[in-house]
Amino acid sequence: MCAKKQELIHDTSHITYESLLAGNKKFIEKAIDGDPDFFSKLANGQKPPILWIGCADSRVPANQITNTQPGEIFVHRNIANMVIHSDMNMLSVLDYSVNVLNVKHVIVTGHYGCGGIIAAMSNQQFGLIDNWLCHIKDVYRLYANQLDTITNEKERANKLVEYNVIENVYNLCKTSIVQNAWKNGQELGVHGWVYSLETGVITDMNVSAYDNNNMGGVFKFK
Ligand SMILES: [Zn+2]
Repeated sequence: MCAKKQELIHDTSHITYESLLAGNKKFIEKAIDGDPDFFSKLANGQKPPILWIGCADSRVPANQITNTQPGEIFVHRNIANMVIHSDMNMLSVLDYSVNVLNVKHVIVTGHYGCGGIIAAMSNQQFGLIDNWLCHIKDVYRLYANQLDTITNEKERANKLVEYNVIENVYNLCKTSIVQNAWKNGQELGVHGWVYSLETGVITDMNVSAYDNNNMGGVFKFK
């Protein structure tokens, strides 16, 4: 009889409430060892050049996967890295980042194998979250012609991950915050990335925008 290969999954059984506090002590030791002024410099203020809008998924932490340190990336995360026109949480983070911190880049980062995307592709009810996932279903509808031709479920979900990032980059460009920054001559790039859980590689979707020149129709503000 052929033994089925056991699927490997990251072991979290050692993670407890107490272990996090112990981990904090180790983090402090390591940080001070590298730079005795590490905390005093950070306590004096922040000047992150990047705003990251990513998925809440535990496997896609902005700092670790970009090899960056505290103070270097301003982060907003939600399920499936959405940029929703009327989300006051996202808009507040965006406004603060662009107009107070003067970030140079805003990056929407999705990831292949995103549970939010997979859930949005189904007809199943999951609860309150269905109303959030509806925004992803709207993206699906925009690209239904292309998506429906992909028969492999995983490939179709991964394609929707990419389209969702592209649409959310566009949603960022639609905001008065980003367009006013461009209008005022502020240096600001908006970008879309997709992270692979399987390889750790980030792929640039090549949809970067630095002005509203390519924006169409009613979305382009004067
Ligand atoms: Zn996700």
